[in-house]
Amino acid sequence: MRIAILSRNPKLYSTKRLVEAGTNLGHQVDVIDTMHCYMDITSNKPSVRYKGKPLPYYDAVVPRIGASVTFYGTSVVRQFEMMGTYSINESVAISRSRDKLRSLQLLSRKGIGMPRTGFANHPDNIGDLIKNVGGAPVVIKLLEGTQGIGVVLADTQKTAEAIIEAFMGLEANILVQEYIKEAGGADIRCLVVGGKVVAAMKRQAAPGEFRSNLHRGGSASVVRLSPEERKTAVDAAKTMGLNMCGVDILRSNAGPVVMEVNSSPGLEGIESATGKDVASMIIDCIVKNAKPFSNKTKGK
Ligand code: ADP
Ligand code: GLU
Repeated sequence: MRIAILSRNPKLYSTKRLVEAGTNLGHQVDVIDTMHCYMDITSNKPSVRYKGKPLPYYDAVVPRIGASVTFYGTSVVRQFEMMGTYSINESVAISRSRDKLRSLQLLSRKGIGMPRTGFANHPDNIGDLIKNVGGAPVVIKLLEGTQGIGVVLADTQKTAEAIIEAFMGLEANILVQEYIKEAGGADIRCLVVGGKVVAAMKRQAAPGEFRSNLHRGGSASVVRLSPEERKTAVDAAKTMGLNMCGVDILRSNAGPVVMEVNSSPGLEGIESATGKDVASMIIDCIVKNAKPFSNKTKGK
C-alpha cells in the first residue's frame, strides 16, 4: 500500500516509528507536512497539492494533527477523504474529540463513566455549578488547554469561585469538574487501535502535583487493566468514532472515569513503558480496513 503520514515533523518519534513499521511491513510510506499541503477543490477531481505538484493517490493516511492546527489539519484530512483515501481517524472524529466539552457530552449520552462536570457562561451560576459537581475541592479546566496547562485544583469554595470568576472575566471557556482524589495523582492511558486496547500505561504525577501528564513531570509504568477499564476505553473510542486514540482514565471509587480522548496519541511514552510495537499495530489496522479508491468516509 501507499501510505502517507501527515505530520509536520519527520523527526518526531511517532512519525519515525510509523514510517519504520510501514516500511518493514512492505509498504511505501511518505511523510507529508500537513501545513504545506494545499487543496484544489473542484468538481469530481479534488486533489491535494504539495510543493507545486498534485500528490499521487494514497491508499491511506495517518493524521498526526497537533491541537494548535486542528482547523487546517482536519481540512487537509477531509480533502484526502474526498479523494477516496482511507484515514485511520476521520476528519470529523478528530474535530469532535478536540472539543473537550462536546466529547464529554457525547460520552455522557452513552453512559460512559466520567468525572461529574459543569459548564456555564454567567457568573450568577457559579455557586450552584460548584455545588452540583459535589462542592470543593474541584478541578477547573480551560476548554482549550493541552498537556495539563490550564488545569487547576481549587481546594476551597472561595478559591474555586475566585478562579472561575477570573476565567469568566477573561471570557475563557472553562469546565468545572469533580476532583477524583482517590486517583492519587495517577491516570491510565489506554491506547486503542481498531476497537481494542493494545497497550496501557499508568502515569503518576510528580510529588506535590495532581496532574499526571508526562509533560508536567509525571512518570510512566506498565499497568494491568480490569475488564471494566478495558470496556470503558473501547466504548469511549467507539463513541468518538476514532480507530486509533489514547483514552485517559482515572480510577475512581465509582469505577473508571474518562477524562479525555486524544486522536493523535504519542507513541514514545507508551512503547517504551510497555515494550509493545504499537506502530505496527496501527499499520496492520490500516491494511485491514483501507479499501483503495473506494473509501467512503462521509466527512460530515
Ligand atoms: P490535558 O488535556 O491538558 O492533559 P486533562 O484534563 O487530561 O488535561 O488533565 C490533566 C491531568 O490532571 C490529568 O492527566 C489528571 O492526572 C489530572 N486531572 C484532570 N482532571 C482531574 C479530575 N477531575 N480529578 C483528578 N485529577 C484530574
Ligand atoms: N457531521 C456530523 C454532524 O454535523 C458530525 C456529528 C458529530 O461530529 O458528532 O451532525
